[in-house]
Amino acid sequence: MNLPVLMYHRIQLEPDKCSDLAVTVKAFQAQMAWLKKQGYQTITLARLSGSCRDKTLLPARPLIITFDDAYVSVFEWARPILAAVGFTATVFVVSRAVGRYNFWDDGQNLPRLTCLGISELRNLADAGWEIGSHGTEHLNMTDLSGEQLRRETADSKQELEKKLEQPVEVFAYPFGSWNEPARLAVQSAGYGAACAISPGTSSVTADLLALRRVYVKPTDSLWDFRRKVSPWYLSYRAWKKR
Ligand SMILES: [Zn+2]
Repeated sequence: MNLPVLMYHRIQLEPDKCSDLAVTVKAFQAQMAWLKKQGYQTITLARLSGSCRDKTLLPARPLIITFDDAYVSVFEWARPILAAVGFTATVFVVSRAVGRYNFWDDGQNLPRLTCLGISELRNLADAGWEIGSHGTEHLNMTDLSGEQLRRETADSKQELEKKLEQPVEVFAYPFGSWNEPARLAVQSAGYGAACAISPGTSSVTADLLALRRVYVKPTDSLWDFRRKVSPWYLSYRAWKKR
């Protein structure tokens, strides 16, 4: 099955020419307005995996919106824009960065960005958002030993569940990097779905533990965006990866 699973990181007022991860409020608003007009309805990854497992029906035009790293800008800017069109999203949290900052970028001459605290995450969950794990420390999982993989997957799940007092069922590989041991660790930890970026699968949902996402770039025009989420383009990407 092919459906758009959008990947965002930061949403901010001013463009940031040095970053591939910061989409402006204006662009994000236009993208959401267009999706709404097209009749898309947001679902959670847990609902997608449940539907693939139990063959339950999804809306006619399902859409998944994801934010990696759980920055405060998601709460500040994306949340009201999504609420205005009746959309929710999935936010992937680094369990040891809750209420802290992007410590994994230290020493790389990148801006220090505040990550969402527990009360903001609970507020999003209460509004129907899905909270997923993005590891304990945002490490590249293709470089890790078995014990480290277990920590990034099982411990981050446990830490977030304890903080949120609710199940955490979905995962996103930091940097989109994964390999078979990483995928197995995600499965053993009990996640039902995991997001990659561009795995070599034959459709978006061919492997629920390595879902393909649409990387929405700051340089994308609304036309580029429309092309990237269109059914023919999603099918073409799947075909190209075969
Ligand atoms: Zn990340």
